[in-house]
Amino acid sequence: MQSKRCGLVVIAGRPNVGKSTLLNRMIGEKISITADKPQTTRHRILGIKTAKNNQIVFVDTPGLHLGAKKALNRQINKTALTALKDVDVIILVIDALRWDDNDDFAIERIKHINTPTLAVINKVDRLKDKAMALPLIEKLDSMGIFEAIVPVSALRKLNLDTLETEITARLPEAEFIFAPDQLTDRSARFLAAEIIREKLTRQLGQELPYALAVEIERFKESKGITNISAVIWVERAGQKKIVIGSGGKVLKTIGTQARKELERMLSVKVHLQLWTRLRKGWSDSDKALRSYGYIE
Ligand code: GDP
Ligand code: MG
Repeated sequence: MQSKRCGLVVIAGRPNVGKSTLLNRMIGEKISITADKPQTTRHRILGIKTAKNNQIVFVDTPGLHLGAKKALNRQINKTALTALKDVDVIILVIDALRWDDNDDFAIERIKHINTPTLAVINKVDRLKDKAMALPLIEKLDSMGIFEAIVPVSALRKLNLDTLETEITARLPEAEFIFAPDQLTDRSARFLAAEIIREKLTRQLGQELPYALAVEIERFKESKGITNISAVIWVERAGQKKIVIGSGGKVLKTIGTQARKELERMLSVKVHLQLWTRLRKGWSDSDKALRSYGYIE
């Protein structure tokens, strides 16, 4: 019998390059929330893919970014950097269309780590011509830190099998860490809070999502229905108004979207109650970050 392979694979890179989308597409299930806004991912999340004798344990990380001033932003960088330690493979995700200072920052952070590293050029579906990726491939190649450079589209699932082959080839021989049917290490309760935060992030303007945290107060399964009650924490009274919307319209939309997705995920009927509450300056308070689960 062929021996088993299993290892930890961290997905790193600056915000918004498609790390969480890549994780979800590799697993085939939504584990990590995504949005067209930086810093949607705040926690370290595991996604587990078991195929035949191989188990890949992906670690999705918040994007590494410069100028982290507030406690929340510092914590996000710390979470991302801690995740780089003691892994078997590092995947650095780059956007095929845009390079910025945060990419340099992310590369600075990984280049001295003595772990096999792959570069993934994501969003190639947006290139008019594949050859447009060539200068970027050359640039990455000349850095001499990547064992392979794989162009993909996470969204359109292009070339993900090549990436999987490159990863699997670098896994150590080891017993599986998780049961073959397990997809993540996170509880349904945690995923519920994240789904609500995703709907908020997508629905609201550019600035507001930074000021929001979601806390599940009640998660109770009874006959055929799961009752979930969640608090959306805001930092200022004005933000509360925006989240609720005129006549409660915004909150209602978010609630409906989140409930539908929760029902899909849990395969049961869901009764969802959302509340907004004010906690001044929570994103710059270590105590609040701990109580919302950002510091483990
Ligand atoms: P993260 O911050 O690196 O985790 O990025 P996300 O996974 O949240 O994705 C950021 C944005 O890029 C979202 O709007 C995604 O839908 C989009 N995106 C991710 N992968 C692709 C891709 O392969 N092609 C295109 N066109 N968009 C993508
Ligand atoms: Mg993300």
